[in-house]
Amino acid sequence: MSIFRFRRSLMALLIALTLLTSLTLDAPAHAAGKLKIVATINIFGDFVNVIAGDKVDLTTFVGLDGDPHNYEPTPADSAKLADADLVFEDGLQLESWLDKLYQSSGSKARRMVVSYAIDPLPAPEGELKNAGKDFDPHIWHDVQNMIEVVKYMRGVFIQADPANAATYSANADAYLKQLTDLDKWVQDQVNSIPQANRKLVTNHDAFGYFARHYGFTVVGTLIGVSTEASEPSAADVAKLVDTIKAQNVPTIFAELTTNSDLIERVAKEAGVQLGDELLPDGLGKEAPTYIDMVKYNVTAIVKGLK
Ligand SMILES: [Zn+2]
Repeated sequence: MSIFRFRRSLMALLIALTLLTSLTLDAPAHAAGKLKIVATINIFGDFVNVIAGDKVDLTTFVGLDGDPHNYEPTPADSAKLADADLVFEDGLQLESWLDKLYQSSGSKARRMVVSYAIDPLPAPEGELKNAGKDFDPHIWHDVQNMIEVVKYMRGVFIQADPANAATYSANADAYLKQLTDLDKWVQDQVNSIPQANRKLVTNHDAFGYFARHYGFTVVGTLIGVSTEASEPSAADVAKLVDTIKAQNVPTIFAELTTNSDLIERVAKEAGVQLGDELLPDGLGKEAPTYIDMVKYNVTAIVKGLK
C-alpha cells in the first residue's frame, strides 16, 4: 500500500466521521431545504451538477474562462460561503484566496478537499521556490484522477444526504462510465502522435498530470504551476527557445485564458508553430463541460503534434 493510497483510505474514513457527526447534528436545520454546495472551480461545479443536479443548491465561484489562481472573490461569494453546508475545493494551493475568504465569511461549511482522492504530483524542483507551491494543482488533465474525484464526491453526497442516495449513485455511476470511455478516447487520440513528438511546451505548467498519465514529457514552460508567478526573465525565455530547438518540438501551445504575446514570441524565435490555444485551468465558453474541455485540449494537442 503506497503512502498516498494509505492517505486516501485514512481521509475517506475521516471524511465519513466528519460528515457523520456534523451533518447528523445539523440535520434539523437542513431537513426542509436542499444541501447548499459551493464548488471553487467550474470543473467541480460541473461534477456537482452531474451527480446531484436539482437535489442541491450549487454555487460555483470561478466561472467559464476564469483563472482560479488569481480569482478575486466577491461579497456575494462570501455570503454564499457563509451559508454553505459543503465546499468542494482542489486543495493543492490552487485556491490561494480561499482560506482568507472562509475565515472572513464566518463559514461553518465542511471543506471537502478533492485532491485527497488522487496521488498528487510534486511541483517541479525549480518552481517550488518561485511559486511557493509544493504540488501541482492541475489534477483534472488526467481523466483517471477525475474518476477518483467523482467517486469521492458520490461518497460525500450519499453520506451527507442519504435520502437522495439512490439518485447520487445512479447519476455518478452513469457519469463514471462516460469518464472511463473518455480516458480511453484520450489514449487512442494520443496514440496517433509519433512517440518522438509527445512533448509539451505550454504557457504555464498546467499539463504535468496529463503528461504523467498519457505518456508525454513537459519539455518547458514560460512560467511555473501558478499564473501568480512573475513574468519570466529574458534569460528564461532564451533558454526555453534553445530547449525547443534542441528537442525538435514541432508545436508549442498558448492558453485561451492568458495573454499569449510572450509565448507567440517564443514560437517565432524558436521557428516552430503555435498550436490552438488550450484551456489549462478549467472550462470555457468553447468547452462548458469537463468532457468538452478534455476533448477540446486533446484535439488541439493532437492537431499540433501529429
Ligand atoms: Zn493553472
